[in-house]
Amino acid sequence: MECPNGCTSSMKIVRVTRIFYRDNQPYVINDLEMYVCPECGSEAMPLHSARLVENVLNGRVKPIGQFSAPLFQSAQPT
Ligand SMILES: [Zn+2]
Repeated sequence: MECPNGCTSSMKIVRVTRIFYRDNQPYVINDLEMYVCPECGSEAMPLHSARLVENVLNGRVKPIGQFSAPLFQSAQPT
């Protein structure tokens, strides 16, 4: 896989956790394979990952569990 920015090194496959949103609902996908360029950090999504994301967002993949994110508040109660 060549970097779209024309870098000399080829892009590496990495597994990442990504959050996608559909109808303001977060969908978290673990171990999603992405191409990352080691030179410029540019990312590209392989076709099989794009299909997986599409299936998840369309509800065709059953979730393995619930994801809870840390919750922050801008003002501390006194
Ligand atoms: Zn690059």
